Amino acid sequence: MLELKDFRTKVHNDWCPGCGDFGILNAIQMALFEMKLEPHEVAIFSGIGCSGKTPHFINTYGFHTLHGRSLPIATGAKLANTSLTVLAVGGDGDGYGIGAGHFVNTGRRNLDFTYVVHDNQVYGLTKGQAAPTLPKGQKTKSMSSPAIVEGINPIATAIVAGYTFVARSYALDVRHLKETLKAAILHKGSSLVDVLQTCPTYNDINTKEWYAGTELPSKAPRLYKLEETGYDGTVKNPEDTNEVNQKKGQAIIRSFEWGEKIPIGLFYRNQEPTFEEMIANRMPAFKEVPLTKQDLYHRDISALFESLT
Ligand code: SF4
Ligand code: MG
Repeated sequence: MLELKDFRTKVHNDWCPGCGDFGILNAIQMALFEMKLEPHEVAIFSGIGCSGKTPHFINTYGFHTLHGRSLPIATGAKLANTSLTVLAVGGDGDGYGIGAGHFVNTGRRNLDFTYVVHDNQVYGLTKGQAAPTLPKGQKTKSMSSPAIVEGINPIATAIVAGYTFVARSYALDVRHLKETLKAAILHKGSSLVDVLQTCPTYNDINTKEWYAGTELPSKAPRLYKLEETGYDGTVKNPEDTNEVNQKKGQAIIRSFEWGEKIPIGLFYRNQEPTFEEMIANRMPAFKEVPLTKQDLYHRDISALFESLT
């Protein structure tokens, strides 16, 4: 009988004390445990950055890949063994900066996997430079002057790219994040969970207190849950183009709300054919036996050679 501790490793964790990454790590471990997944059924891929260390701390298969390159490697693993539950984790710099091309094109494919982004608006591992989600005009304590370019909107970008499950959560609300991750993993298709993550060492703007709204006149939390407002981001009829466009449109508009109120929760969900299903339709052998189980050494390829002569 598996226990939560079976998803932990003994690897030393050198994240800064109080880092929001701990909340994300705990939420991933709890989600996998509550979904009754076995460690050998899960593979987690990461890029470079503080978030890149995540697979070291989770007792599943894991691969700490290159900067911005976790998604193509996760894609290859999922195609090789479609029975795996595949997660990719990375930072906003890793995924929305150097990895932005892969971020967009992975969404287009609708591969059945979950992408968890530690979104702290800075490059924490390299001393807090402005990362792609830092809004224009903001200056964290390690910057000499405010950012002169606009930040990217990952929710809107993911919806336009083709991700079929797009959500946002908060690293310090582990229960909400865990439930969001479980829904994302259950979803058949590409899921993005953008996680607002505090970086107490370098981001002195978007702090725990800032998200809690303690300096606002209202003293009310900035974060509110979409699901508690009657918002419904789920497409009921994927064949209905009008409904699909309406749900995408409302999600994109909502995703630009950023200030005294910031929504978290599920922005958009739609059920569309996955990349694996589309490949299987073209290559029936892909569906019958996963590539990892196919006998690559005893295949008769004489017909192929004859066709080349
Ligand atoms: Fe966390 Fe920031 Fe420290 Fe990195 S630099 S471990 S993101 S607090
Ligand atoms: Mg970052």
